[in-house]
Amino acid sequence: MDCARTIKRLGAKQVKVIYRRAEEQMPAEEKEIQDAKKEGIEFLFKNNIVKIIGKNKVEKVELIKTELVKKENEERLVPVNIENSNYQIDADYIIMALGSKVESYVKDLGLKTNKWGNIEVNEEYQTSNPKIYAGGDLAGTKSTVAWASYSGREAAKNIIKNLK
Ligand SMILES: Cc1cc2nc3c(=O)[nH]c(=O)nc-3n(C[C@H](O)[C@H](O)[C@H](O)COP(=O)(O)OP(=O)(O)OC[C@H]3O[C@@H](n4cnc5c(N)ncnc54)[C@H](O)[C@@H]3O)c2cc1C
Repeated sequence: MDCARTIKRLGAKQVKVIYRRAEEQMPAEEKEIQDAKKEGIEFLFKNNIVKIIGKNKVEKVELIKTELVKKENEERLVPVNIENSNYQIDADYIIMALGSKVESYVKDLGLKTNKWGNIEVNEEYQTSNPKIYAGGDLAGTKSTVAWASYSGREAAKNIIKNLK
């Protein structure tokens, strides 16, 4: 949401936010969505990206419409692509704002992890290997910038303390 609004203020003529689910499911504050709309940002709800098209630069994006279905063991409605509903829109710049997961190699470090694959840390941000500390998304479920900065700083303090 911040990227869309910032790029519009920086002078982009047309900004479109493509979102797989519906407006009600969007993980953004309602006020942010309404303010963004007032600023001229268009929302393509229930649309998924199929591919980015272009020779030496982005020229178009191929989208597909989605429908939301209730699936077992899923709390949120799941977007499912509607077959043959593909279409293309012009685009010259794309900002990816996607969720991310812990890299698979992290499990090869042999550290204790929780059921989501995050590294477990104690109150000093120390992992199951006392020589390794962790913070941020890798070591928690809070997933905010504030938590990442805080835990990184606290881990660093504890490393210094324990070295001394
Ligand atoms: C779309 C989106 C919107 C978000 N909006 C907000 C928001 O509004 N407010 C908020 O507080 N949080 C938001 N977050 C969450 C926030 O971005 C994260 O919680 C935060 O960035 C976590 O910081 P981090 O340092 O733990 O990890 P990251 O920011 O992911 O940093 C990890 C870094 O490690 C690098 N890396 C990975 N593997 C290797 C390797 N093998 N070698 C070297 N480097 C490597 C990566 O390239 C990356 O730069 C959002 C996240 C997403 C995806």
